[in-house]
Amino acid sequence: MMRTVSIPVNLSSERFLPLMAQCAEIFNAHVDWALVNGTYNKNKAHQDLYADLRVKYPGVPSALLQTVRDSAMEAVKATKFKRTPRKKPTSGLRYDKRTMTLRGQQLTLSCVGKREQVILNVPEYFKEVFENWSFKGATLTYSKHNKQFWVRLVFETDTPEFQPGEAQGIDRGLYHLATTSDGQFFSSSKVRATQRRYLHNRKTLQQKGTRGAKRRLRATSGREQRFMRDVNHCVSKKLAHQQAFTIFVLEDLSGIRNQRRGKKVNKWLSSWTFYQLEQFLGYKSEALGKRIEFVDARYTSQRCSVCKHIAKTNRTKSRFHCRNCGHQAHADTNAAINVRDNYILSTTVVSVEQGTVNCPDATDLIVV
Ligand SMILES: [Zn+2]
Repeated sequence: MMRTVSIPVNLSSERFLPLMAQCAEIFNAHVDWALVNGTYNKNKAHQDLYADLRVKYPGVPSALLQTVRDSAMEAVKATKFKRTPRKKPTSGLRYDKRTMTLRGQQLTLSCVGKREQVILNVPEYFKEVFENWSFKGATLTYSKHNKQFWVRLVFETDTPEFQPGEAQGIDRGLYHLATTSDGQFFSSSKVRATQRRYLHNRKTLQQKGTRGAKRRLRATSGREQRFMRDVNHCVSKKLAHQQAFTIFVLEDLSGIRNQRRGKKVNKWLSSWTFYQLEQFLGYKSEALGKRIEFVDARYTSQRCSVCKHIAKTNRTKSRFHCRNCGHQAHADTNAAINVRDNYILSTTVVSVEQGTVNCPDATDLIVV
């Protein structure tokens, strides 16, 4: 499994910005060559272009030029000649073992002239990755708005073997970030209050529309993203580290969301923060020999987790009260149990006379 670690670095913009711009030109020249010649063969590109580009860009180290060539050819290959991949003067620059070294926290990067050396400020929670995972390569990026360079370092390690165990259903919602099938709630009034405040600020600033307001809007949006990222790290960590569970079952929210929930919830669901929680839980689980699974989201909030009766009227806001058997529960807990059971059902092979069918929707038959 892979992990990408982003760290801000202080590099000289006089040295690195011209390098990035030249590498972007080299990249674009390779793409043009590939489109004209109808090939993304690296050796042919090297034969045709290398000598001339060395003359035109004498400062760019040879190994870096080759890395740029490789990424240009891979970009053309990925787009199958249908588009023209382009790099801008400040586009990210890929480094590999030929052009960089990483020893402990000391990083060296190829540049025009001699290599640049930086000491990385590695956050505590990335130390484990730095010390024990193997380093694969990195990308140098530059964000224009705050004039900051970043390195994105890619590490790899063996994926731990899956530990068989219990499945836990997780319902994600507007009110609680996550509710589990065994009755835990991961929510925070702080999250909701903060979200509301950000929404309010956004609206006010958008109405204003001045240049200062737009700048404020960008800054706020960054803060909001960092805040939610933090929350998602926290929640996914707690979920992944639960001793009792090795499979986390989530609703597949990609397809049918429009039919199931209101407009307000849809907006929330489609937001990146849900996707981020999913991603974080995914990679944290993987590192622990656990995994996430997705199930069909239909009827999970309307179906009774005890008698399987489905009715819209079973649910009133956060309360679930089954019209058929009288079962009462918190609506999100009931949904989380349904999510878990959908998964368990989908892995259970039901015998039907001689044949066998895998029947995840067996309980969807009773619809009122
Ligand atoms: Zn019931």
